[in-house]
Amino acid sequence: MTNTPLPFLPFTKPTIDEETIAAVGEVLRSGWITTGPQCAALEKTLSNYFGGRPVRCFANGTATMEIALRIAGIGPGDEVITTPISWVSTSNVILTVGAKPVFVDVDPHTRNINLQLIEQAITPATKAIMPVYLAGLPVDLDALYAIADKHQLRVIEDAAQALGSSWQGNLIGTNQNTRSDLVSFSFQANKNITSIEGGCLVMNTEEEAILASKYRLQGVTRTGLDGMEVDVLGGKHNLTDVNAVIGLHQFAKLDDFTAQRKVLAQHYFDCFAKTSLATMGLQLPIADFTNSNWHMFQVVLPIEALEARQSHRADIMQKMKDQQIGCGLHYPIITQFALYRELGYDPQATPQAVRVGKSIVTLPLFAQMTHADVERVVTSLENAMRSALGHA
Ligand SMILES: *Cc1c(COP(=O)(O)O)cnc(C)c1O
Repeated sequence: MTNTPLPFLPFTKPTIDEETIAAVGEVLRSGWITTGPQCAALEKTLSNYFGGRPVRCFANGTATMEIALRIAGIGPGDEVITTPISWVSTSNVILTVGAKPVFVDVDPHTRNINLQLIEQAITPATKAIMPVYLAGLPVDLDALYAIADKHQLRVIEDAAQALGSSWQGNLIGTNQNTRSDLVSFSFQANKNITSIEGGCLVMNTEEEAILASKYRLQGVTRTGLDGMEVDVLGGKHNLTDVNAVIGLHQFAKLDDFTAQRKVLAQHYFDCFAKTSLATMGLQLPIADFTNSNWHMFQVVLPIEALEARQSHRADIMQKMKDQQIGCGLHYPIITQFALYRELGYDPQATPQAVRVGKSIVTLPLFAQMTHADVERVVTSLENAMRSALGHA
């Protein structure tokens, strides 16, 4: 028996097939490489997927969310309610348009914004709610939109991680049987499907889509062969056809990828059930196989028990890394960042988010992983926890 070390297992990895690589070559040879027919085709495909709603694609999910805020007319003097446990992009775009992020604490089980705490954060300046579907698990959309409608607020769903997720049988981004306002997705390399970088916004009306196109490219409207007008300040946020063709090929695999993720997530639960990690205080994600697209499999460590033994999350991550397993960190609490502290935010105002932010760990989960990989991760985490907590 040889003792070859097992290869490094990253927490995520995109699946790109040869057809996609060939399609990129075709676009590069076609003579049209920036935004053109491939981007239009991706928008049409996505629009069909979202039940015919208008869709525009952008250079990344951050630009998508910023433009969603602009379409909703949000700017200086306005407040937007959001979660402190997200990629910092979520609240950065609120600052970028000149508005104020108002952070509401998270639910410790879903790790998403706690809907029951939203109403007490609403002021006369509140214009919108921006929930985040962490790891692809949506919030209760009925409850969310009941609050939004009662207070006449816009909703910008940061569904960057939730392509293919649904709420009670309705895909996130559709609005036939459920309320939905502006919904933003990301196709960044780590998401369930990727265009390397990219994003799309699902809107309500053609008027919003026209505005989205203007904000995407310098505010320009073209008419006829030589007509050009600029009536809003737009930026440079278009998605290239090279990126779009990757997105099209990836989209064709979305259902397969989601199905593979679900099988692997279920295997995680089966493997965890055979360990003593629960008695050590490890908190698993909610086992939602109806709504979630299983963008990530995240555990929350028993941080008090670790700290009592002068141990921390980084020790667990290091022990796993020593066993060739890469963990991710999604996310530290936003209000702990210097920029946000200098703006006057106090992390202690959202205690559940403080705890989640310092004890959450993302375990490897991606479509090509094997059952043996899952078993390796669970064994490695169990060993790391035993040694950190001094269990035999
Ligand atoms: C990825 C992500 C974004 C930003 O998307 P980019 O395409 O990287 O700009 C925003 N919010 C969340 C929750 C994300 O996961």
